[in-house]
Amino acid sequence: MEPVVQFENINKSYGKHVAVDNLNLSIEAGKFVTLLGPSGCGKSTSLRMLGGFETPTSGRIMLSGKDVTRVPPNKRNVNIVFQDYALFPHMSVAKNIAFGLELKGFDNQRIHRRVSELLELVQLQDYANRLPAELSGGQRQRVALMRALAPDPDVLLLDEPLSALDAKLRQQMQIELKAIQEKTGKTFMFVTHDQEEALTMSDTIVVMNKGRIEQMGDPNTLYGRPGSVFVANFIGETNLLRSTVISSKGDVAALNWNGITITANPGGLDPRHGEHLYVVLRPEAIHCSAAEPVLGNRIKGKIRQRVFKGNHTSLMVEVAGGAMLNTLVHPSDVAQLSSEDIWLGWKPETTTVIPDRHAQN
Ligand code: ADP
Repeated sequence: MEPVVQFENINKSYGKHVAVDNLNLSIEAGKFVTLLGPSGCGKSTSLRMLGGFETPTSGRIMLSGKDVTRVPPNKRNVNIVFQDYALFPHMSVAKNIAFGLELKGFDNQRIHRRVSELLELVQLQDYANRLPAELSGGQRQRVALMRALAPDPDVLLLDEPLSALDAKLRQQMQIELKAIQEKTGKTFMFVTHDQEEALTMSDTIVVMNKGRIEQMGDPNTLYGRPGSVFVANFIGETNLLRSTVISSKGDVAALNWNGITITANPGGLDPRHGEHLYVVLRPEAIHCSAAEPVLGNRIKGKIRQRVFKGNHTSLMVEVAGGAMLNTLVHPSDVAQLSSEDIWLGWKPETTTVIPDRHAQN
């Protein structure tokens, strides 16, 4: 199937500053795709180029098989939802949603049908005649979404639309946004710097760093198999164990981490003796116990800090050589860890290995 969006060798510079650096990205129709990365990495610029609000310095943008690189925003079949909703304050909910349809010259009957259908989709049928000021933050957000979806864009662009909401509402809206995307089957291109938001909603996450794609994939792959230190740090919490290869054969590498020998699956890297690697060890992959565990990797440690987080407790554990490991313990297991002295264990296959590109021996 032909992708609905294609960024081909897209560059965007502001003077000498390169905001987007050779972006190549294809987006399949009907997917929820998120551009994720720290502030200033080029997410919004990429989105705005697809919306037509910015022109690439070089490269080509294809939308539904047509070159739209120099087509003005109102002539491309995309729509954008901003963080501040930008609803028309003096228009009713129904009028707000109808706005884009009137611009397109649809007849009244068709507009009425479409508006009713969209209000029903977000259960706002009873609010059609209210003004935006008479709605809650979540309801306003839904209306803004429906207004943008009304003219049936090929892609809906969402630039940090949830960042003004409080934490609870934000989580609810994440679930709802994903549900709306699935029900409508539309392609959503979402921009956020919030990794949790990206993991919750996306079919595909595109991690950006300094104007480039660092890695893209489904949430599970990015979390479980980060391809770089940047991605491992940016998505979820992690322990990064910088280790030196002792030996490596097939699926098993013996590594020296801070004077401790650990094993890991090198994942096809075929590392040489003396080479440096990072082992990505997620806090939840570490098993904490009072007794020595029967696991491929096990080390003794001392609990230096306990942080209660409600549904789990985070333990900072000091191991030989003074290194700290961040672990995560479920409430039912905390009681047996009353002593400062504990064992940590993990299965080698729960870790991922990343080459240390800057420090080869
Ligand atoms: P993000 O959305 O990832 O936070 P942006 O795409 O907004 O990042 O910006 C990428 C880079 O381009 C930043 O360094 C930003 O300062 C710069 N930039 C964005 N828009 C402009 C502009 N209109 N003029 C000059 N620099 C800009």
